[in-house]
Amino acid sequence: MKIDPRLVELREGENLKLEPRYASTNNICHKILYSEPRLWIHKKTLPKLIQAQQTAKTQNLQLWIWDAYRPPEVQKQLWNACPDPRYVANPQTGGSLHARGVALDLTLARNKKLLDCGSDFDHMGNAAHWDAYDAGLISAAQQENRLLLRSLMQDAGFETIATEWWHWQLPSPKNSPWEILPSPYQP
Ligand SMILES: [Zn+2]
Repeated sequence: MKIDPRLVELREGENLKLEPRYASTNNICHKILYSEPRLWIHKKTLPKLIQAQQTAKTQNLQLWIWDAYRPPEVQKQLWNACPDPRYVANPQTGGSLHARGVALDLTLARNKKLLDCGSDFDHMGNAAHWDAYDAGLISAAQQENRLLLRSLMQDAGFETIATEWWHWQLPSPKNSPWEILPSPYQP
């Protein structure tokens, strides 16, 4: 199959662990949404991810990636499972930066053990928000882990969104918004 040349496949490494949750049933749809346990990102995302990975390494941390490029068809299934624009981008109104390869869902691990950030991936509720600590929903230790992730990802040039601590994306260029890319997954 021909894969769009703007997409590069992520490979596991010493400080990069892949756990594609949508290639398992451990996700909000409780079904396998990706035909294979592989992840891709836009090649322009890669240098920033490598920068974050290198910083993580100096702190004896691993980046633990749950999702990256996401096909528009899968975005529709997620929207059907959770039609709430705070957590899932509406496929009818432009869709997700994941479909453009410039968004990543990830957390941190130390010695292959996930740091406790106070909620699971795709927890659709207030505990996933960046103000969860101020709202009394997560502990100081959990907040510290989130801030560790934030400093690492922001220093590498990523931005987050208010409602999902695990979501990181590239800023959108003003004049040429990122384009939706065709799926590299086997049908
Ligand atoms: Zn995301």
